[in-house]
Amino acid sequence: MSKAAVKTFEEYCNTHDLRVTQPRLLAFKIVHAAKKPITAYEVLEKMGKDIKNPKPPTAYRALDFLADHGFVHRIESLNAYVSCDVNHKHEGSQFMICDGCGDVEEIHVCHLPKSLEDKVKSEKFTLHHWNVEVHGTCARCA
Ligand SMILES: [Zn+2]
Ligand SMILES: [Zn+2]
Repeated sequence: MSKAAVKTFEEYCNTHDLRVTQPRLLAFKIVHAAKKPITAYEVLEKMGKDIKNPKPPTAYRALDFLADHGFVHRIESLNAYVSCDVNHKHEGSQFMICDGCGDVEEIHVCHLPKSLEDKVKSEKFTLHHWNVEVHGTCARCA
C-alpha cells in the first residue's frame, strides 16, 4: 500500500468536496492492497479489523463510491473489485481475466471498439457505461 496512492485519493476527495470517511478510506486501502479481485464480502471482513461489526451496506456504499469516482472497477463476471492501476477517470473498463490463476489485467483501451460504438450510435442508444471482460489463459498459465 503506497502512501502516494492514499494521498492522491485524499486530494481528489478534498478538491471535489467529497468526504473521506473511514469506510471509504478503508475500502480504498483494502482493494488497493489486494493482489487479486476482492469481493465486497471480503472487503467487509477486512473492514472489521478497524470498524466494529461493519454491516454489508457499509462496504457496498464505500465500494460504490470508489467505483463511481474511478478508483476501483467492478469485475461483473467475478462479482469482485480491483483497484484502477491508472489513476484516471476513464470511461469504460476492459479486463483480461485468467481462468487458471485468477489474475486480472486491466487493458487501457479507453475507447469503445469502433464496431460497438457505431452500433450504439446507429440505434440512437445513450451510453452510460460499458465494461468488457475477456476470459482466457494468461501467458504464465498457458
Ligand atoms: Zn482503470
Ligand atoms: Zn494465469
